[in-house]
Amino acid sequence: MKRIGQVVLLSGSILLGAGMLTPFAGSPVISEASEINMPPVSGFISHDELTRELNQIERTSNGNVEVDVVGYSNHNREIYKATVGSGDKVVLIQSEIHGNEKVGTKALLNMIKKIGKNNSPEMRQLREEVTIVAMPMVNPDGSELNRRGNELNWDEVINQFPQLEGAEPSWNYYTYTNQYWDYASNPGFDVNRDFNPNLNYVPQFEDFPNNSSEPGWFITPEAQTIRDVYKDLQEQFGTVDVFIDLHHQGEYVIDGTDIPVTLSLSSVFVPHPSTPEGEKYSEYADVYNEDFSKQLNVAAYDALQQMGNSPFGNISLYSQDLDLPGTALGSFALNGSGAVLFEVTGQTQSFGQKKMGQLTKAVEEGLYGILNSLATDEVYELDVEDYDKIPLTDR
Ligand SMILES: [Zn+2]
Repeated sequence: MKRIGQVVLLSGSILLGAGMLTPFAGSPVISEASEINMPPVSGFISHDELTRELNQIERTSNGNVEVDVVGYSNHNREIYKATVGSGDKVVLIQSEIHGNEKVGTKALLNMIKKIGKNNSPEMRQLREEVTIVAMPMVNPDGSELNRRGNELNWDEVINQFPQLEGAEPSWNYYTYTNQYWDYASNPGFDVNRDFNPNLNYVPQFEDFPNNSSEPGWFITPEAQTIRDVYKDLQEQFGTVDVFIDLHHQGEYVIDGTDIPVTLSLSSVFVPHPSTPEGEKYSEYADVYNEDFSKQLNVAAYDALQQMGNSPFGNISLYSQDLDLPGTALGSFALNGSGAVLFEVTGQTQSFGQKKMGQLTKAVEEGLYGILNSLATDEVYELDVEDYDKIPLTDR
Protein backbone atom coordinates (compact mmCIF):
# COMPACT_ATOMS: atom_id res chain seq x y z
CA MET A 1 0.00 0.00 0.00
CA LYS A 2 2.65 2.43 1.04
CA ARG A 3 4.74 1.65 -1.99
CA ILE A 4 2.10 2.96 -4.36
CA GLY A 5 1.98 6.19 -2.42
CA GLN A 6 5.74 6.51 -2.63
CA VAL A 7 5.80 5.91 -6.36
CA VAL A 8 3.24 8.63 -6.87
CA LEU A 9 5.20 10.90 -4.59
CA LEU A 10 8.45 10.21 -6.40
CA SER A 11 7.13 10.76 -9.90
CA GLY A 12 5.28 13.81 -8.69
CA SER A 13 8.44 15.29 -7.31
CA ILE A 14 10.42 14.55 -10.46
CA LEU A 15 7.83 15.84 -12.88
CA LEU A 16 6.35 18.70 -10.99
CA GLY A 17 8.96 19.80 -8.52
CA ALA A 18 8.93 20.17 -4.78
CA GLY A 19 5.78 22.24 -4.81
CA MET A 20 3.76 19.09 -5.36
CA LEU A 21 5.28 17.34 -2.39
CA THR A 22 3.13 18.88 0.24
CA PRO A 23 -0.30 17.45 -0.58
CA PHE A 24 1.04 13.89 -0.80
CA ALA A 25 3.45 14.08 2.09
CA GLY A 26 0.82 15.66 4.32
CA SER A 27 -1.94 13.17 3.53
CA PRO A 28 -0.45 9.69 3.19
CA VAL A 29 -3.71 8.08 4.30
CA ILE A 30 -5.65 9.56 1.40
CA SER A 31 -3.58 7.53 -1.07
CA GLU A 32 -4.15 4.41 1.06
CA ALA A 33 -7.84 5.16 1.32
CA SER A 34 -8.22 5.46 -2.44
CA GLU A 35 -6.96 1.88 -2.79
CA ILE A 36 -9.89 0.52 -0.78
CA ASN A 37 -12.26 2.64 -2.84
CA MET A 38 -13.50 5.06 -0.25
CA PRO A 39 -15.77 7.36 -2.24
CA PRO A 40 -14.35 10.83 -2.87
CA VAL A 41 -14.90 13.53 -0.27
CA SER A 42 -13.05 16.38 -2.00
CA GLY A 43 -16.26 18.45 -2.11
CA PHE A 44 -16.10 18.74 1.65
CA ILE A 45 -13.84 21.16 3.48
CA SER A 46 -10.25 20.36 4.48
CA HIS A 47 -8.64 21.95 7.50
CA ASP A 48 -6.60 24.27 5.25
CA GLU A 49 -9.76 25.36 3.47
CA LEU A 50 -11.46 25.89 6.80
CA THR A 51 -8.67 28.22 7.88
CA ARG A 52 -8.84 30.20 4.62
CA GLU A 53 -12.64 30.40 4.61
CA LEU A 54 -12.92 31.51 8.21
CA ASN A 55 -10.33 34.24 7.65
CA GLN A 56 -12.20 35.42 4.58
CA ILE A 57 -15.56 35.37 6.34
CA GLU A 58 -14.12 37.44 9.18
CA ARG A 59 -12.49 39.94 6.78
CA THR A 60 -15.66 40.52 4.74
CA SER A 61 -18.18 40.65 7.59
CA ASN A 62 -17.95 44.35 8.45
CA GLY A 63 -16.81 43.38 11.91
CA ASN A 64 -19.83 41.14 12.54
CA VAL A 65 -17.87 37.87 12.69
CA GLU A 66 -14.93 37.31 15.01
CA VAL A 67 -12.75 34.24 14.51
CA ASP A 68 -10.44 32.95 17.24
CA VAL A 69 -8.14 29.98 17.61
CA VAL A 70 -9.35 28.39 20.86
CA GLY A 71 -7.15 25.31 20.99
CA TYR A 72 -5.19 22.71 19.05
CA SER A 73 -5.77 19.10 18.15
CA ASN A 74 -3.24 16.51 19.31
CA HIS A 75 -1.42 16.93 15.98
CA ASN A 76 -1.40 20.66 16.44
CA ARG A 77 -4.14 21.72 14.04
CA GLU A 78 -6.07 24.83 15.00
CA ILE A 79 -9.53 24.49 16.51
CA TYR A 80 -11.59 27.59 15.78
CA LYS A 81 -14.48 29.49 17.23
CA ALA A 82 -16.43 31.94 15.05
CA THR A 83 -18.74 34.33 16.88
CA VAL A 84 -21.51 36.32 15.23
CA GLY A 85 -24.23 38.37 16.92
CA SER A 86 -24.31 40.13 20.26
CA GLY A 87 -27.59 39.05 21.83
CA ASP A 88 -27.86 37.70 25.33
CA LYS A 89 -29.14 34.30 24.21
CA VAL A 90 -26.11 32.10 23.53
CA VAL A 91 -26.06 29.23 21.03
CA LEU A 92 -22.99 27.01 20.70
CA ILE A 93 -22.94 24.85 17.56
CA GLN A 94 -20.20 22.38 16.69
CA SER A 95 -19.48 20.09 13.76
CA GLU A 96 -17.25 17.15 12.85
CA ILE A 97 -16.43 15.91 16.32
CA HIS A 98 -16.51 12.69 14.31
CA GLY A 99 -14.09 13.40 11.47
CA ASN A 100 -16.05 11.41 8.90
CA GLU A 101 -19.22 13.48 9.48
CA LYS A 102 -18.57 16.51 7.35
CA VAL A 103 -21.82 18.13 6.21
CA GLY A 104 -22.19 20.23 9.35
CA THR A 105 -18.93 22.08 8.69
CA LYS A 106 -20.17 23.28 5.32
CA ALA A 107 -23.52 24.26 6.80
CA LEU A 108 -21.87 26.18 9.64
CA LEU A 109 -19.60 28.14 7.30
CA ASN A 110 -22.52 29.06 5.03
CA MET A 111 -24.55 30.11 8.04
CA ILE A 112 -21.88 32.24 9.71
CA LYS A 113 -21.14 33.94 6.41
CA LYS A 114 -24.78 34.78 5.76
CA ILE A 115 -25.62 35.95 9.27
CA GLY A 116 -22.47 38.08 9.30
CA LYS A 117 -23.01 39.72 5.92
CA ASN A 118 -26.71 39.82 5.14
CA ASN A 119 -28.65 42.88 6.26
CA SER A 120 -32.18 41.54 5.87
CA PRO A 121 -34.44 42.29 8.85
CA GLU A 122 -34.36 38.60 9.77
CA MET A 123 -30.55 38.43 9.89
CA ARG A 124 -30.29 41.75 11.73
CA GLN A 125 -32.72 40.46 14.32
CA LEU A 126 -30.63 37.31 14.72
CA ARG A 127 -27.50 39.37 15.30
CA GLU A 128 -29.26 41.56 17.85
CA GLU A 129 -30.98 38.83 19.84
CA VAL A 130 -28.58 35.90 19.70
CA THR A 131 -24.86 35.30 20.13
CA ILE A 132 -23.96 32.42 17.86
CA VAL A 133 -20.70 30.63 18.55
CA ALA A 134 -19.78 28.17 15.82
CA MET A 135 -17.03 25.59 16.25
CA PRO A 136 -16.64 23.91 12.87
CA MET A 137 -14.47 20.78 12.59
CA VAL A 138 -13.63 20.30 16.25
CA ASN A 139 -11.73 17.04 15.51
CA PRO A 140 -9.47 18.21 12.66
CA ASP A 141 -7.02 15.27 12.91
CA GLY A 142 -9.90 12.84 12.44
CA SER A 143 -11.31 15.04 9.67
CA GLU A 144 -8.07 14.92 7.70
CA LEU A 145 -8.14 11.10 7.92
CA ASN A 146 -11.90 10.99 7.19
CA ARG A 147 -12.38 8.85 10.30
CA ARG A 148 -14.47 9.00 13.44
CA GLY A 149 -11.70 9.01 16.07
CA ASN A 150 -8.97 11.53 16.73
CA GLU A 151 -5.22 10.77 16.57
CA LEU A 152 -3.95 10.14 20.08
CA ASN A 153 -2.45 7.08 21.70
CA TRP A 154 -2.68 5.87 25.27
CA ASP A 155 1.00 6.65 26.01
CA GLU A 156 0.37 10.27 25.11
CA VAL A 157 -2.59 10.29 27.51
CA ILE A 158 -0.37 8.89 30.30
CA ASN A 159 2.21 11.59 29.57
CA GLN A 160 -0.44 14.20 30.10
CA PHE A 161 -2.04 12.47 33.11
CA PRO A 162 0.67 10.46 34.94
CA GLN A 163 -1.88 9.40 37.57
CA LEU A 164 -3.32 7.03 34.90
CA GLU A 165 -0.11 4.96 34.67
CA GLY A 166 -1.16 1.29 34.78
CA ALA A 167 -4.88 2.00 34.18
CA GLU A 168 -6.77 0.17 31.46
CA PRO A 169 -7.32 2.45 28.45
CA SER A 170 -10.77 4.01 28.26
CA TRP A 171 -13.50 1.97 26.52
CA ASN A 172 -13.70 4.49 23.66
CA TYR A 173 -10.05 3.94 22.63
CA TYR A 174 -9.85 2.59 19.08
CA THR A 175 -7.08 0.18 18.10
CA TYR A 176 -8.91 -1.90 15.49
CA THR A 177 -8.36 -2.18 11.77
CA ASN A 178 -11.11 -2.54 9.19
CA GLN A 179 -11.58 -1.93 5.48
CA TYR A 180 -11.62 1.83 6.03
CA TRP A 181 -9.29 2.62 8.91
CA ASP A 182 -6.12 1.44 10.56
CA TYR A 183 -6.42 2.45 14.19
CA ALA A 184 -3.97 -0.36 15.07
CA SER A 185 -1.00 1.59 13.74
CA ASN A 186 -2.54 5.01 14.42
CA PRO A 187 -4.88 4.81 17.42
CA GLY A 188 -7.42 7.37 18.51
CA PHE A 189 -10.42 8.04 20.72
CA ASP A 190 -14.06 8.72 20.12
CA VAL A 191 -13.86 12.35 21.27
CA ASN A 192 -17.63 12.39 21.65
CA ARG A 193 -17.47 10.04 24.64
CA ASP A 194 -14.80 12.07 26.46
CA PHE A 195 -17.12 14.60 28.12
CA ASN A 196 -18.12 14.71 31.76
CA PRO A 197 -21.09 16.64 33.17
CA ASN A 198 -18.72 17.77 35.92
CA LEU A 199 -16.90 20.30 33.75
CA ASN A 200 -14.07 20.54 36.30
CA TYR A 201 -13.48 16.79 36.40
CA VAL A 202 -9.82 15.68 36.57
CA PRO A 203 -9.06 12.13 35.30
CA GLN A 204 -8.91 9.54 38.12
CA PHE A 205 -7.30 6.10 37.85
CA GLU A 206 -10.40 4.33 39.18
CA ASP A 207 -12.63 5.84 36.47
CA PHE A 208 -11.02 3.74 33.73
CA PRO A 209 -12.00 2.05 31.49
CA ASN A 210 -15.67 2.94 32.34
CA ASN A 211 -18.37 2.29 29.72
CA SER A 212 -20.87 4.13 27.54
CA SER A 213 -23.36 4.87 30.32
CA GLU A 214 -20.67 6.43 32.51
CA PRO A 215 -19.09 9.87 32.05
CA GLY A 216 -15.91 10.57 30.09
CA TRP A 217 -12.72 12.22 31.35
CA PHE A 218 -11.61 15.18 29.18
CA ILE A 219 -8.43 13.31 28.23
CA THR A 220 -8.51 14.47 24.57
CA PRO A 221 -7.31 17.98 23.71
CA GLU A 222 -10.33 18.38 21.42
CA ALA A 223 -12.88 17.73 24.19
CA GLN A 224 -10.84 19.92 26.55
CA THR A 225 -11.02 22.77 24.04
CA ILE A 226 -14.78 22.48 23.58
CA ARG A 227 -15.27 22.26 27.36
CA ASP A 228 -13.15 25.39 27.86
CA VAL A 229 -15.18 27.36 25.30
CA TYR A 230 -18.38 26.19 26.99
CA LYS A 231 -17.12 27.23 30.44
CA ASP A 232 -16.00 30.64 29.13
CA LEU A 233 -19.48 31.20 27.71
CA GLN A 234 -21.05 30.12 31.00
CA GLU A 235 -18.88 32.63 32.80
CA GLN A 236 -19.70 35.38 30.33
CA PHE A 237 -23.45 34.77 29.94
CA GLY A 238 -24.43 32.80 33.05
CA THR A 239 -25.60 29.85 30.99
CA VAL A 240 -25.17 28.45 27.49
CA ASP A 241 -28.80 28.50 26.39
CA VAL A 242 -28.48 26.12 23.47
CA PHE A 243 -25.96 23.51 22.35
CA ILE A 244 -26.28 21.90 18.91
CA ASP A 245 -24.09 19.03 17.68
CA LEU A 246 -23.95 18.20 13.95
CA HIS A 247 -23.41 14.54 12.96
CA HIS A 248 -24.00 11.89 10.28
CA GLN A 249 -25.62 8.46 10.69
CA GLY A 250 -26.20 5.38 8.55
CA GLU A 251 -28.95 5.15 5.94
CA TYR A 252 -32.41 4.59 7.43
CA VAL A 253 -36.10 4.90 6.58
CA ILE A 254 -38.82 6.64 8.52
CA ASP A 255 -40.58 4.17 10.81
CA GLY A 256 -43.50 2.40 9.14
CA THR A 257 -42.60 3.69 5.66
CA ASP A 258 -40.04 3.13 2.93
CA ILE A 259 -39.17 6.84 2.87
CA PRO A 260 -35.42 7.44 3.28
CA VAL A 261 -34.54 9.67 6.22
CA THR A 262 -32.83 12.94 5.27
CA LEU A 263 -32.07 14.03 8.82
CA SER A 264 -32.80 12.80 12.34
CA LEU A 265 -33.17 15.04 15.36
CA SER A 266 -33.04 14.41 19.09
CA SER A 267 -33.21 16.13 22.45
CA VAL A 268 -32.75 13.25 24.89
CA PHE A 269 -29.27 11.87 25.67
CA VAL A 270 -29.55 10.89 29.33
CA PRO A 271 -32.49 9.73 31.44
CA HIS A 272 -34.26 12.63 33.14
CA PRO A 273 -32.51 13.40 36.47
CA SER A 274 -35.90 13.51 38.22
CA THR A 275 -36.76 9.91 37.29
CA PRO A 276 -35.56 6.69 38.98
CA GLU A 277 -33.45 5.79 35.91
CA GLY A 278 -31.80 9.21 35.99
CA GLU A 279 -31.20 9.26 39.75
CA LYS A 280 -27.43 9.22 39.28
CA TYR A 281 -27.80 12.68 37.67
CA SER A 282 -29.96 14.12 40.45
CA GLU A 283 -27.46 16.90 41.22
CA TYR A 284 -28.29 18.35 37.78
CA ALA A 285 -32.09 18.14 38.18
CA ASP A 286 -32.51 21.85 38.87
CA VAL A 287 -30.89 23.05 35.67
CA TYR A 288 -31.69 20.19 33.25
CA ASN A 289 -34.42 21.37 30.87
CA GLU A 290 -35.66 18.59 28.62
CA ASP A 291 -38.81 20.48 27.64
CA PHE A 292 -36.77 23.35 26.21
CA SER A 293 -34.59 20.89 24.29
CA LYS A 294 -37.76 19.39 22.82
CA GLN A 295 -39.08 22.84 21.83
CA LEU A 296 -35.81 23.54 20.02
CA ASN A 297 -36.15 20.26 18.12
CA VAL A 298 -39.73 21.14 17.20
CA ALA A 299 -38.52 24.50 15.89
CA ALA A 300 -36.04 22.74 13.59
CA TYR A 301 -38.63 20.17 12.53
CA ASP A 302 -41.28 22.78 11.75
CA ALA A 303 -38.85 24.85 9.66
CA LEU A 304 -38.00 21.79 7.57
CA GLN A 305 -41.65 20.77 7.14
CA GLN A 306 -42.36 24.24 5.82
CA MET A 307 -40.10 23.54 2.85
CA GLY A 308 -42.97 21.55 1.36
CA ASN A 309 -43.25 18.07 -0.02
CA SER A 310 -39.56 17.31 -0.61
CA PRO A 311 -36.69 15.34 0.92
CA PHE A 312 -36.33 18.25 3.36
CA GLY A 313 -39.52 17.05 5.04
CA ASN A 314 -38.22 13.52 5.62
CA ILE A 315 -37.20 14.09 9.21
CA SER A 316 -37.28 11.52 11.99
CA LEU A 317 -36.34 11.22 15.64
CA TYR A 318 -33.00 9.60 16.46
CA SER A 319 -32.95 6.74 19.00
CA GLN A 320 -34.52 7.84 22.28
CA ASP A 321 -33.90 6.19 25.69
CA LEU A 322 -30.17 6.93 25.52
CA ASP A 323 -27.82 7.15 28.49
CA LEU A 324 -24.68 8.78 27.10
CA PRO A 325 -23.26 11.18 29.69
CA GLY A 326 -19.86 11.11 27.92
CA THR A 327 -21.26 12.85 24.85
CA ALA A 328 -21.00 16.62 24.57
CA LEU A 329 -24.80 16.74 24.27
CA GLY A 330 -25.36 14.63 27.39
CA SER A 331 -22.88 16.59 29.50
CA PHE A 332 -24.00 20.03 28.35
CA ALA A 333 -27.72 19.17 28.64
CA LEU A 334 -27.09 18.21 32.28
CA ASN A 335 -25.49 21.64 32.70
CA GLY A 336 -28.74 23.30 31.62
CA SER A 337 -28.31 23.82 27.86
CA GLY A 338 -31.19 23.12 25.53
CA ALA A 339 -29.66 20.36 23.42
CA VAL A 340 -30.22 19.36 19.80
CA LEU A 341 -28.64 16.54 17.81
CA PHE A 342 -28.62 16.63 14.00
CA GLU A 343 -27.81 13.36 12.22
CA VAL A 344 -27.83 13.62 8.43
CA THR A 345 -27.97 10.45 6.39
CA GLY A 346 -24.89 8.50 5.27
CA GLN A 347 -21.43 8.04 6.81
CA THR A 348 -18.83 9.65 4.59
CA GLN A 349 -16.52 6.62 4.28
CA SER A 350 -19.28 4.66 2.49
CA PHE A 351 -21.79 7.33 1.38
CA GLY A 352 -19.13 9.81 0.20
CA GLN A 353 -20.42 13.22 -0.80
CA LYS A 354 -23.71 12.02 -2.27
CA LYS A 355 -26.55 14.51 -1.72
CA MET A 356 -24.02 16.88 -0.13
CA GLY A 357 -25.85 20.00 -1.31
CA GLN A 358 -29.24 18.80 -0.18
CA LEU A 359 -28.02 17.60 3.21
CA THR A 360 -26.11 20.83 3.81
CA LYS A 361 -29.24 22.81 3.00
CA ALA A 362 -31.33 20.64 5.33
CA VAL A 363 -28.94 21.31 8.23
CA GLU A 364 -28.92 25.04 7.50
CA GLU A 365 -32.73 25.22 7.37
CA GLY A 366 -33.03 23.32 10.64
CA LEU A 367 -30.49 25.64 12.28
CA TYR A 368 -32.27 28.76 11.03
CA GLY A 369 -35.53 27.33 12.37
CA ILE A 370 -33.98 27.13 15.82
CA LEU A 371 -32.17 30.49 15.67
CA ASN A 372 -35.17 32.43 14.34
CA SER A 373 -37.54 30.95 16.89
CA LEU A 374 -35.09 31.91 19.62
CA ALA A 375 -34.65 35.43 18.26
CA THR A 376 -38.42 35.96 18.21
CA ASP A 377 -39.03 34.05 21.47
CA GLU A 378 -41.51 31.85 19.57
CA VAL A 379 -39.62 28.75 20.68
CA TYR A 380 -40.93 29.15 24.23
CA GLU A 381 -44.51 28.91 22.91
CA LEU A 382 -44.00 25.69 20.97
CA ASP A 383 -45.90 22.62 22.17
CA VAL A 384 -43.48 20.24 23.87
CA GLU A 385 -45.74 17.33 22.93
CA ASP A 386 -45.18 18.01 19.23
CA TYR A 387 -41.74 16.50 19.78
CA ASP A 388 -43.26 13.06 20.33
CA LYS A 389 -45.24 13.41 17.09
CA ILE A 390 -42.03 13.50 15.03
CA PRO A 391 -41.85 10.04 13.43
CA LEU A 392 -39.27 7.61 14.72
CA THR A 393 -36.41 6.19 12.70
CA ASP A 394 -36.71 2.55 11.65
CA ARG A 395 -33.39 1.21 12.99
ZN1 LIG B 1 -21.27 11.35 14.98
